[in-house]
Amino acid sequence: MSIPLLFGPYGSAQLPPDVSEYGVNAVWFHGFNERAFSDCSERGLDACVEFKTFRADFQKHPELIPIGADGRPIRYGRLVQGICLSQKDHLAEIEAQLLDGLQTFKPRGVWLDYLTFAGWFETPEPDLQESCFCPACIADFCQTTGLDATTPERILGSYAEEWKAHKCRKIADYALRYSAIVKSKLPECIVGAYMCPWTPEQFDGALTRIFAQDYNMLAEAIDVFTPLIYCKKSGRGAGWGREWLDRSPEFVPADRNVQLILDAGDLPDSLAETATPGVQSRGIQVFAGAPLFQDPDKAIIFRQSVEAIRRMT
Ligand SMILES: [Zn+2]
Repeated sequence: MSIPLLFGPYGSAQLPPDVSEYGVNAVWFHGFNERAFSDCSERGLDACVEFKTFRADFQKHPELIPIGADGRPIRYGRLVQGICLSQKDHLAEIEAQLLDGLQTFKPRGVWLDYLTFAGWFETPEPDLQESCFCPACIADFCQTTGLDATTPERILGSYAEEWKAHKCRKIADYALRYSAIVKSKLPECIVGAYMCPWTPEQFDGALTRIFAQDYNMLAEAIDVFTPLIYCKKSGRGAGWGREWLDRSPEFVPADRNVQLILDAGDLPDSLAETATPGVQSRGIQVFAGAPLFQDPDKAIIFRQSVEAIRRMT
């Protein structure tokens, strides 16, 4: 499937009517939001939905909190994502929400968000924990692999690679399931996934070991991979997106697309770096980017970057 180059903000804040003059041709927003769809249609922009998968309010749903290697619910903060994937009722709800949205709306793309095991990564010093070791998740591991490893100590001590592969397979299977639902309703709809922005070796392999995001396994389901390049929040410099893009052929299959989401708080420098020669981002999303287009000086910088990326791709 050929993927168009889509450029625009993430967020449901209203955009000025002339926003397409600044190179914007798409908007990403949370959920199947009726007003956002109608704003897009009025402005002639492609509507792309950010679809929440494995993220829940743990205060309201403590049963979804994954269990750590110490047998207790994991530590978590405001940004935590990932749930216990043995909670079938909740998983059924997620699927129903996706189906429901696709009955009513026709998005140009659906970007799966929080498609990971538990943790959070928008921070310079992550608090990484293995999960989920609830009895049901352990039983699922033993049954799927045929291994007799019924405690976190035995799993991590003797079968760490098998555990990691099992978790990555689970995430990739959910990606396939959601992608199949989207494509069955809208065959031309782009399926994207928001990704932990770390390279495979960082933080002792946490991309797969903790978050269970394996680009090769996910490639069958995902058309566009979108790492969250939030430089200041992650304690990185403005060149981080450029560095990630240039390394991406080492771990992203060649026939897949990469498209960064940048943080509005890092503009214009991170955007300018992204638009330099090297591996190109297939379009750009700007998190909380709508206010940018209220200020013509900043909006022109966006347009110049869009033009530079279009020339190079
Ligand atoms: Zn579990």
